[in-house]
Amino acid sequence: MVAAVALGAFAAATAGQALKAGPSSSDDIAPLADSKNASAALGVGGTGSVTAAAPEVLAVAKPVIAAPEVQQLAATNQIVQARADAAAKAKAEAERPRYVRPSNGTITSGFGARWGTTHYGLDFAAPIGTPIYAAADGVVIEAGPASGFGLWVRIQHDDGTITVYGHMQDFSVHEGQRVKAGEQIARTGNRGQSTGPHCHFEVWEPGDHKKIDPRPWLIQHGVVL
Ligand SMILES: [Zn+2]
Repeated sequence: MVAAVALGAFAAATAGQALKAGPSSSDDIAPLADSKNASAALGVGGTGSVTAAAPEVLAVAKPVIAAPEVQQLAATNQIVQARADAAAKAKAEAERPRYVRPSNGTITSGFGARWGTTHYGLDFAAPIGTPIYAAADGVVIEAGPASGFGLWVRIQHDDGTITVYGHMQDFSVHEGQRVKAGEQIARTGNRGQSTGPHCHFEVWEPGDHKKIDPRPWLIQHGVVL
């Protein structure tokens, strides 16, 4: 509404100036009064009466401040949108899982005695190339060759726990890289001492790095196996 009035007033003022510039108005230089009359004559900005046109005198100044107002409105909309985006992002961050199953493969071997020795991990059998995911947020502390594992990736999590992933075909992270739970770090392979494509997954306790059974560790953190 305010913008419409201001635009009307601007049109009226322009019309008045156009009349002044014309040859027939050279004997009449009263601009504001004429602008009112001109707007009335042209049917711009109201009923045509001087009384009805009177607010236009104040409105003439409006176009000068209307542009900043429009800019302010656009800036405000941008701020509102940015806040909505940030809120959606924060919600997604708050709701994302903190622990995930490292592989969607089939568990074929658990932690404990096996073949006269001790198997220190949990095996997820899956075709070569099947994604392997970081079980929790953390920092990659090693990614490369390792005896028996062929290749391994080790991730240190925020509580000091270390998870180990072995036998992979290849990996896509590097030492020092921060990863999030569920982020793909490697692909299943059959390297090292392995009898078929699978991901060998270990959990080492904080501090002494004692290898513990990954199954209850995952379940305690809400992972469905
Ligand atoms: Zn294993």
